[in-house]
Amino acid sequence: MKKTIEHKTPKQLLTPTRGYLKGYSHTLNPYMGCAFGCSYCYVRRLPVALFKGQEWGLWIDVKTFEKDRFRHELIRAKKKGAVTIFMSSSTDPYQPLEHRERITRSLLEVMAEEPPDFLFVQTRSPLVVRDADLFQKLKDRLLISVTVETDREEIRKALTPWAPPIPTRLKALAQLKEAGLPTQAAVSPVLPSSERFADVLKAVVSRVTVDDYFMGDGSGGRRTESLGIKKIYEQIGETDWYDPSAYQTVLDRLRAVFPASQIYVSLEGFLPPASGTVD
Ligand code: SF4
Repeated sequence: MKKTIEHKTPKQLLTPTRGYLKGYSHTLNPYMGCAFGCSYCYVRRLPVALFKGQEWGLWIDVKTFEKDRFRHELIRAKKKGAVTIFMSSSTDPYQPLEHRERITRSLLEVMAEEPPDFLFVQTRSPLVVRDADLFQKLKDRLLISVTVETDREEIRKALTPWAPPIPTRLKALAQLKEAGLPTQAAVSPVLPSSERFADVLKAVVSRVTVDDYFMGDGSGGRRTESLGIKKIYEQIGETDWYDPSAYQTVLDRLRAVFPASQIYVSLEGFLPPASGTVD
């Protein structure tokens, strides 16, 4: 499907945080909009998407910038206190356009030279592996979180048809682990999965975090309800999984194979570690 792409140069790239990401000083979104267009994406209901007046997933604004400008922005922020960055809160930093635009990579190049106190990278794209060389320079203050909501491809296709296939994400996590980089799998939101899911994850990560619509959409599940996600569960015959207790099934399976210290639930899995370094 044709997407609308615009290039824009914002005055600043770092945004001071508010709300549920209060553990961070800033968010960093290399793009506005997101080509993955996940059905359950809570950003669909935020002003950034509502004011755009186009269907979520069909428009992307590319944030162009001068590296020196971003460097100065970073230096200024660091003078004011600890800089802990969540990249990204309302887009995927490794969506398909990043292959050619390299906005995320350029931001990382600056951060590798002028490191923030902590950087959290949230993506569902295997393209993240491309930047392993830069992550190496930040690895003592970094966590790369790759969304793996299920191990069942038919479920992924039903709820996020434009997102990367699950096997490619698992392979990316394996490669990042092999490179010695701090990673986690974010089972977020929990989608219907198989009994093998915990073992599948254990093969590629040592840390996992679990979240669901009811804890994680910022409105106790009402935002997800308004997106009509329940209907998709009805269509695919998985209504048992559309329930505030469903995450417990996945959590119990994870507890059978991961140590308790490496399992996080909801917000705690997305916060910077108290020590600044991920175990
Ligand atoms: S990848 Fe993230 S930001 Fe993009 S549509 Fe999916 S949930 Fe939303």
